[in-house]
Order: sequence, then structure tokens, then C-alpha cells
Amino acid sequence: MIVILKQNPNQAQVNNFIGWLHEKGIEVHTSVGISQTILGLVGDTSALDINLISALDIVEDVKRIQEPYKNANRKFHPQDTVVKVGDVQVGGGNLTIIAGPCSVESEEQIVSVARSVKASGANMLRGGAFKPRTSPYSFQGLRAEGIRLLTLAKAETALPIVTEIMDASQLPLFEDVDVIQVGARNMQNFELLKALGSLRKPVLLKRGLSATYEELLMSAEYIMAGGNDQVILCERGIRTFETYTRNTMDVAAVPVLKRLTHLPVIVDPSHSAGRSDLVAPLSCAAVAAGADGLIIEVHNDPEHALCDGPQSIRPEVFDGLAERLREIAELCRGASK
Ligand code: PEP
Ligand code: MN
Repeated sequence: MIVILKQNPNQAQVNNFIGWLHEKGIEVHTSVGISQTILGLVGDTSALDINLISALDIVEDVKRIQEPYKNANRKFHPQDTVVKVGDVQVGGGNLTIIAGPCSVESEEQIVSVARSVKASGANMLRGGAFKPRTSPYSFQGLRAEGIRLLTLAKAETALPIVTEIMDASQLPLFEDVDVIQVGARNMQNFELLKALGSLRKPVLLKRGLSATYEELLMSAEYIMAGGNDQVILCERGIRTFETYTRNTMDVAAVPVLKRLTHLPVIVDPSHSAGRSDLVAPLSCAAVAAGADGLIIEVHNDPEHALCDGPQSIRPEVFDGLAERLREIAELCRGASK
């Protein structure tokens, strides 16, 4: 249930009301906007008398909501959430481009890609240190050393770094990581989500291979329920009957999620397609559909990449694409950064 308060309500009456709700075992999340304050009531609200609440002096309107996610729900929080990563703002009309290799392979590789994508206007650097590979015989990532190399690339370029965590036990290694990525395979690793909920650090949450929008939002809710509201959602392609592409990019996810939630929504065209030749058209489609950003795999030598070479674009291709994406964002919403 959400309760929209009148403008400048009597604070003593608001506190009384909140105290009364607490006595009934209901948690209250307060969202203070520029012109309105909204109370999100979490718990069993079935016994609350909606007419009684509507009649209170301080109350403008009361709505029952069906969705099981509260913190992530746009009805609770009408304004876009803007996730701040250093000077970079994700959401709220900005276009954020995250670029870098699938995996960190060496100092030379990550620093070289970081410099190139920075020069092309990327806002953050990606690179996997812990890699969730389908085969245990494939390259598993440089792990702690990979994170160290990412921090070197950050020191060289000032780009914030984004990298994937696979288990909560790895958290001590993520101190200097700016955005912690939860991969598609871990979208419903609830213990990991709870651990990330206790941090005050941005989390990039990727949609599971066969997850519904509601399941993705419930996973975001796990993080937010712990008090960490800095969550960025990512559509990265879902499993369908099509085999030509690695996955199927669900472009509708962008406008649907942006309607359902106030959290920023970005798109990963690289894992969606699995093919470098499709990265540019899918990126353009994502931005035109209203995505707040993109995460794109860029490699200086895709033929010899240790992971996901076939879907990685070269720095010079990224350069042209980044410019086109900024133009599309400008055209579609008159705001690009
Ligand atoms: C990745 O970003 O490197 C990755 C493994 O992505 P996903 O979890 O979407 O497969
Ligand atoms: Mn990859």
C-alpha cells in the first residue's frame, strides 16, 4: 500500500500515523520528493482500513499495490533513481557507456583497452576477474590479480571499474571496485544479493537467462531491502528457441522495466547477440528504446581473446559506435552525457 501525503503535512500527525503503523507490524519507507512525500507500507496491509487512512487530515491519497516489490516500485518512488559512481551519474536522462574486455587478461591488455575506450568517451571500464564459465576447463579469470590490474587501469585513466562477483566470500577483494556486477547466472543467488544489500555501493544486476521482469525486480528488491538502493538493472538477452544468436535481446525490457521501476536500466548487446557484427545495431536499438546506458565488450585483439572474442568489438569500431549512440540519445530524449 502507498500513502501519498498532502503538501506540508503536520509532522506530529505524520509521526503518530507512522507509530500506529509500526504497532501493527508494518514497516514504513518514506520517499520525500520535491512536492510530495510518499509512504510505502511494507508488511501485511490486508487488515488496514483504506477508508480510515484516506480520511486522515495529512493524507492526499491511498493506493493498494499488487506488485510484490516495494522498494524497486516506481509507484513508491516516481522520480528516476540516479546512481552516482564518482562523477558518473547513471539514470535520470544520462547515457552511460561501460566498455572493456570480457575478461582481464594482462596489464598491457586492460590498460590499452581502458585508454582506448576512455578516449572514445566511455564512462566506465568493465573487465571480468572472476568468470562464470559454462565449462570448468575454460579460462576462469585472473581472480584477485584481475582486480589488481583493473585498479591499475583505473589509476591510469580515472575510469570507474565494473567487475563481477561470484560469491560473497570474494567481497574483501572488491573494496576498490566501483560497481559490483551480479551476473545472469547469479541473479537469484539470494545469499549473495543479501550480502550486497548490506553494502552502500552500486550493484549492476543482470537479468537471468530465463528470468521474468518480476523475478529481476524481486532480485533488486533483495538488495534494496538491505538498505542498498544503488541498483542498476541490465537486460543481457534471454534464452529463446532462436539459435542464430547466443541469446535474444529483449528490447521491450527497457520500456517495461522503466515503467515498473525507478532504477536505471542498461543493456548488454554483446552477451545478447554473441556476435560482434550485431553489437552496433542492437546498441542503437537499446538507446532508442530509452536505455540509460550500455555495457559493451571491447577487445584490442578479439581473435586471441581468452573469453567471448566472437562478440567483442575492436576499439576503433567502439569509437564510431559511441559517437552514434550519443547522437541517438540526443535525438530520442534531448539529453546525452
Ligand atoms: C559478463 O558480463 O562478462 C557476463 C558473464 O555476463 P552475463 O552474466 O550476462 O552472462
Ligand atoms: Mn563476456
